[in-house]
Amino acid sequence: MRFVTTRGGQPVSFREAALIGLAPDGGLYVPETIEPWSADELSRLSNRTLTEIGYRALRPYTRGELDATLFEALVVDALNFPIPLVEVEPRVYALELFHGPTLAFKDVGARLMARLMASLDKDERDLTVLAATSGDTGSAVAHAFHGVPHTRVVVLYPDGRVSPTQEAQLTMFNAEAGNVRAYAVAGSFDDCHRLTRETFGDDALSRAARLTSANSVNVGRLLPQMVYYFHAVAQLGPVGGDLLMCTPSGNFGNLTAGLMAKRAGLPVSRFVAATNVNDVVPEYLERGVFAPRPSVATIANAMDVGHPSNFDRMLWLYGNGVDAMRRDVIGCRFADDDVRQTIRRVYEERGYLLDPHSAIAYMGLKSVLQSNQPGVFLATAHPAKFREIVEPVIHKTIETPGPLAEALAGPLHILRIDASLDAVSRAIDV
Ligand SMILES: *Cc1c(COP(=O)(O)O)cnc(C)c1O
Repeated sequence: MRFVTTRGGQPVSFREAALIGLAPDGGLYVPETIEPWSADELSRLSNRTLTEIGYRALRPYTRGELDATLFEALVVDALNFPIPLVEVEPRVYALELFHGPTLAFKDVGARLMARLMASLDKDERDLTVLAATSGDTGSAVAHAFHGVPHTRVVVLYPDGRVSPTQEAQLTMFNAEAGNVRAYAVAGSFDDCHRLTRETFGDDALSRAARLTSANSVNVGRLLPQMVYYFHAVAQLGPVGGDLLMCTPSGNFGNLTAGLMAKRAGLPVSRFVAATNVNDVVPEYLERGVFAPRPSVATIANAMDVGHPSNFDRMLWLYGNGVDAMRRDVIGCRFADDDVRQTIRRVYEERGYLLDPHSAIAYMGLKSVLQSNQPGVFLATAHPAKFREIVEPVIHKTIETPGPLAEALAGPLHILRIDASLDAVSRAIDV
């Protein structure tokens, strides 16, 4: 399949779209068409496993560029953890996307993207992924590429400005002679970000290291997120009534993938786009005006986005029509106090522990769900990842899941560098 850009740029192959990341015209890559599933395939969804669904959902985009056997192996290798659907209360289900290595939903897109990029790249020399991170994205990318042949990862994070848990997850691979290194930069997140821009801007360095970005707008990371929407429906089986789904949103990649799945035939009547107080998209749905602005800090910080990049893809899906988008999407937003109250109440009444992002998804679903209507909300992070927020709310300490315990167990191997292009090029050169 060919990929075009949201600004109408020249079509490219999937390989080019995934390896380039951001299109040269400044737009975002999107598939030329979204192939619908047949009614027969949809009716047999319940008999399929997660990896079978992954193969079916993504095959149209990779056909002609990746051989079927190789592609299947790559899907199986990437989706090696469960994505269960859990009933929280009657007709309300959590799709738990947090059982991957970094305990957040970004593992799904990042792990498939890493393997797709490595397999699509025909060059013998390693690709070097350079990423600046304020915390979670960097560890999802580091873990996703870890051990993937012909790739190297260099992550820059601000020294002293990530949480101890995040630093443990980021630096986990520094001690081994592997393909992933994370560097603590003497500076802020903005310095890290500036350094990656400068490094990409240095043509000689960029070519020599075969630099690429594993940015969240990469279409190779977006498409895999369609998979678990189908997997949710497969686990739910036949339900009476129109299914509603709610996606907690920041950069709106997750929701966009859901809307694309709906276009491909996912039997869901509508989506709820739930945000924290960074609510430019709910506001657009209400008033028809898109007004990006600086983000505000909240306790659901992975959703603190004031100018969501995937909004362009949402406009593309609906031909720039707000009314068309409104037929599929309802927006809502929640403040930190609502989040804390909901975490406490759902824990006390249902014995189910939500992280702040998943709590927003739960509230979004409940605010729209009619009585007797079934609904699924996406649980995007494990509560243990946000223990500083969750524990005081429920007055209990929570267990540390295996992958996190492993990261926290070893001695830290911190590699410190200055905030200079020189230091970054030395880090890339090793
Ligand atoms: C990134 C993230 C989100 C937001 O996803 P988008 O695709 O950016 O809208 C929600 N929850 C968690 C835990 C995240 O890490």
